[in-house]
Amino acid sequence: MRFEILATCPDTGARAGLLHTAHGIVETPVFMPVGTQATVKGVMQRDLAAPLPEGLDAQIILANTYHLFLRPGHELIRKLGGLHQFMSWPRAILTDSGGFQVFSLSDLRKITEEGVVFRSHLDGDRHLFTPQSTVDVQLALGSDILMPLDECLEYPASHEAANVAMQRTVRWARTAYEHFQTRASETGSRSALFPIVQGSMFADLRRACAAELVELDAPGYAIGGLSVGEPRTLSMEMTEVTTPLLPHDRPRYVMGVGMPEELAEYVARGVDMMDCVLPSRNARNGCLFTASGRVIIKQARYKDDAGPLDAECPCLTCRTYSRAYLRHLFQAGEMLFSTLATIHNLKYYLDMMRQMRQAIQVGRFRAYLDSVRNSAVESN
Ligand SMILES: [Zn+2]
Repeated sequence: MRFEILATCPDTGARAGLLHTAHGIVETPVFMPVGTQATVKGVMQRDLAAPLPEGLDAQIILANTYHLFLRPGHELIRKLGGLHQFMSWPRAILTDSGGFQVFSLSDLRKITEEGVVFRSHLDGDRHLFTPQSTVDVQLALGSDILMPLDECLEYPASHEAANVAMQRTVRWARTAYEHFQTRASETGSRSALFPIVQGSMFADLRRACAAELVELDAPGYAIGGLSVGEPRTLSMEMTEVTTPLLPHDRPRYVMGVGMPEELAEYVARGVDMMDCVLPSRNARNGCLFTASGRVIIKQARYKDDAGPLDAECPCLTCRTYSRAYLRHLFQAGEMLFSTLATIHNLKYYLDMMRQMRQAIQVGRFRAYLDSVRNSAVESN
């Protein structure tokens, strides 16, 4: 995997680049739609890959190791040709290690140095995730970017607990990385594994973690443990502390962020990749992001609104349907609503990333960032 930086904003350090994967080129900065169960809920792969200007043209999506491990099982997916073939998605896929989901099962798991024992939320069966086994599961899936098992704490955590979790994350990352390199050289895999910087909300722990992980000389790095309930200023601060310590020429991925108005803030801090369930989950709940602010579609004001959801948006939903029709679908509980709403919200996110990329390339990212900040102030 090769990362090429095409332009850097001289004021902020925001970067526009190309990530060359075995399943195509990913233009960065990029937002990755979340496809937990090997599907971006409600949206067909055809629509995810549909070309610009109307289409989403997503170049990379996320899938979830924990969920696919439990159902239908990674061996089954391997047998059926790997995740790309299984889900008919020829473009890049990033899989998380499953750590975040396992650690969310607070009553159902036990952590040891070896790994995490947990009970399936589906049938209560007992399983063990180790740094090595989660690499093997992701290799069976055939992901382009793999994540190592890490320990992600809730917010707030004590410095002591955060330190213990961070040290374990580093040891697990070393084990996972070594195992991954052995397996990749045996199989000729062209995938990459991105170590994850942890350290909760403590700058000293984030710095120590980054310093240890950089020694692995990995092709990319992730910042994890954010968006766990902390104030937004802290998420930004932790990102700001970490990115300068990561290798300049490798992609940086902040996991699980963010709100539309935050995306530019992460990019301004040197982040190249992000993912979040927010645009798709909010879409299904009837909260839509538009150029003129949030639209809560169930509101009575949209009952007879014949206009498009977002007049500035070229997506299928906005070109084809009225707000009144979308509201009707939502009120009637029709499944088409989820599809149309998700297509629009993802389009909003992906196009925003493309605007940022373009702004960086023409030397106007600072102005872009200022305009995002001004409109956030106005809407508050
Ligand atoms: Zn739209």
